[in-house]
Amino acid sequence: MAVDLHTHSLFSDGSDSPTEIVNAAADIGLIGIALTDHDILDGIPEAAAAAADRGLRFIGGTELSVLWRDQSMHMLIYFLEPGAGPIQDRLAELRESRHSRNVEIASRLEQLGVEITMAEVEAEAQTGVVGRPHFAGVLIHKGYVDSVPEAFERYLAAGRPAYVPRKRLTAEEAITLSRRSDAVAVIAHPHTLNLRAAEFATGFSELVDLGLGGIEAFYGEYTPEMRTRLAEICDALGIVATGGSDYHGRYKPHLAIGVGKGDLRVPDTAMDRLEEIRQP
Ligand code: AMP
Ligand code: ZN
Ligand code: FE
Ligand code: FE
Repeated sequence: MAVDLHTHSLFSDGSDSPTEIVNAAADIGLIGIALTDHDILDGIPEAAAAAADRGLRFIGGTELSVLWRDQSMHMLIYFLEPGAGPIQDRLAELRESRHSRNVEIASRLEQLGVEITMAEVEAEAQTGVVGRPHFAGVLIHKGYVDSVPEAFERYLAAGRPAYVPRKRLTAEEAITLSRRSDAVAVIAHPHTLNLRAAEFATGFSELVDLGLGGIEAFYGEYTPEMRTRLAEICDALGIVATGGSDYHGRYKPHLAIGVGKGDLRVPDTAMDRLEEIRQP
């Protein structure tokens, strides 16, 4: 039995509603799903209700971009609900800091000769968090670029002319706040870190000591060999090998729910183990 523990809805930078994501997961035979929108929990009640309707197991979560050794690391935080709480309150701050950043990105694009308004970007985002993929969507509609990756390469990625950094927690803060929120923190797609292969086995031990719950080993962009190797590292560290598609709908059209690029399979035991380690 398979699950998908990494998905984005229109509450952040995916294009599908939480209900559409859950239905698509059920239709292909998954037995569990997690919703992990960036910095926002507002899609979780809808996803939980849809999952109950379809008889799927469900985990509410979020994906954070955090700082680790001067690098950008993505962390998935599982077992969250909207409302107040240690992590929830920080998410609100992160969302506020996005707004001033987005205004600055728009003004940089204008200086580069791109005609774009925040109203257009907000319309593209539909609801919830506004992020760079929504700028990319407007750039595509207006004919400035042909694809989301091209928008990042020309304008939006770190080091490109319209890039503006935003506020982040550190990896250590994210893990500590997660534990105080009865949530479980997991390193997402670790191969996007600048880390030599030999460092994967040892590089995260300090984070494990702080309470890191897992590493996303089963990821669509990785070869089967990398997935197996990462799962072995998780076993050795005594943490959970999780996985997911990172589905974003039309913003990442090459990634499908449950199966990623086509060959992904995330065992449901990953979900069992996350639930086990959440118990105090
Ligand atoms: P933001 O939350 O505004 O910082 O945007 C981050 C999101 O943009 C990531 O989660 C990805 O979905 C997407 N993204 C980041 N870098 C790239 C890239 N080089 N090409 C395509 N999408 C990207
Ligand atoms: Zn995203
Ligand atoms: Fe990510
Ligand atoms: Fe993601």
